[in-house]
Amino acid sequence: MKTIIEPFRIKMVEPIKMTTREQREAALKKAHYNAFLLPAEDVIIDLLTDSGTSAMSAEQWAGMMRGDESYAGARSWYRFESVLKELTGMKHVFPTHQGRASERLLFQLLGGPDKVFPNNNHFDTTRANIEHTGAQALDLVIDEGKKPESLHPFKGNLDPVKLESLINEVGPSRIPACMITVTNNSGGGQPVSLENIKVIRKICDKYKIPLFLDACRFAENAFMIKQREPGQGHRTVRAIAQEMFSLADGATISAKKDALVNIGGVLLMNDSRLAEQTQNLLILTEGFTTYGGLAGRDLEAMAQGFQEILEEDYLTYRLRSVAYLGEKLTAAGVKIVQPPGGHAIYIDAAAFAPHIPAASFPGQALVCGLYRHAGIRGVEIGSVMFGKTDPKTGKTIHPPMELVRLAIPRRVYTQSHIDYVGEACAELYAERSSLRPLKIIEELPALRHFSAKFVEV
Ligand SMILES: *Cc1c(COP(=O)(O)O)cnc(C)c1O
Repeated sequence: MKTIIEPFRIKMVEPIKMTTREQREAALKKAHYNAFLLPAEDVIIDLLTDSGTSAMSAEQWAGMMRGDESYAGARSWYRFESVLKELTGMKHVFPTHQGRASERLLFQLLGGPDKVFPNNNHFDTTRANIEHTGAQALDLVIDEGKKPESLHPFKGNLDPVKLESLINEVGPSRIPACMITVTNNSGGGQPVSLENIKVIRKICDKYKIPLFLDACRFAENAFMIKQREPGQGHRTVRAIAQEMFSLADGATISAKKDALVNIGGVLLMNDSRLAEQTQNLLILTEGFTTYGGLAGRDLEAMAQGFQEILEEDYLTYRLRSVAYLGEKLTAAGVKIVQPPGGHAIYIDAAAFAPHIPAASFPGQALVCGLYRHAGIRGVEIGSVMFGKTDPKTGKTIHPPMELVRLAIPRRVYTQSHIDYVGEACAELYAERSSLRPLKIIEELPALRHFSAKFVEV
């Protein structure tokens, strides 16, 4: 059969409010041309993020009803802990309210001025939490990872040569941990190979640097290892995921991605001393160690989600629906980061709107254009999100790519929704010279993309 169908039936529906172009124009103006400030009600297809937007399964909802809300030692906690230990093999499991809470705990304990944290590409909250402690967050992805057209199968790989030269330059004592983000969200949702994790593990061992995974999309990464890495095709995705975790000393996870829940996170580690400090900080700021700021029902939903995500029929459909959108855009002439990543399509906005220079935010212009044209909400991953001012020269440093991410929520949209997105992108591309440059008129010092206000110039 040619068509890979959604491997689920729909049991509950949420209506989509259809809007006119005039209504969207008014909403966009009111939101200061920042899609984060749009009311979700006014969005037809919401591809802002795949984070916390999954549709939960009947079993997850049943788990919500079974949740044990005891303060300490709840049944739901024990189920959650055993699912995570079985999957990751980690000695210490801490629930948190989401990924950035895990990051905040970890970097509050490991970070500080003078410290340096390498990664393939730090996600924005990871970078912000590291920099908040005065430490430096460095992106050491392989060069292919910065070339939108490169067909390298593992463009998320961390460059071992760059890592070793960094270690030699700053000294291992200034590197409290090396991170690898699977899949590499900021670098286009690209996977990291098992081979690469092994090579990085060896380097970390040589210099006694702990290795942490930012494992938000561990299952999508493991599935792409199965599909693309020589010698891995016969293994189960679960076995591959278990091996990925076995190569690390710890992990931060936002359960809002591959754990198929609307809220939740995990912090994992093997080091008992670090775990003791984490426990203290968790109790101080999040909640007791057996709930970490969540309800028992949330732990149940996560425990179930961490199992369901490894179902290979689901992953086949998931990766196929993302690639399908990628094919539609490519056929229309739109340049995207190739090959399509696990959770999203990343449009090369610099190529889409060559008449808009990086300083006038081509990605943001495309986000506004897509919303105006079809009510689709995407997110800019370029100079708005990562542009910064050089403290020495006062000049703006632009990131290597100007991208717009169309993230696909898990189990939420059907093939006809995806067809609609493909058609809208193709139409907008045909009239791309209508996209308008933007200027920031108000911003916050950290994570400015969430709240910045723009005007069209
Ligand atoms: C989403 C995400 C985070 C942060 O998780 P939140 O749950 O949004 O706090 C960290 N790293 C990566 C790679 C992510 O995709």
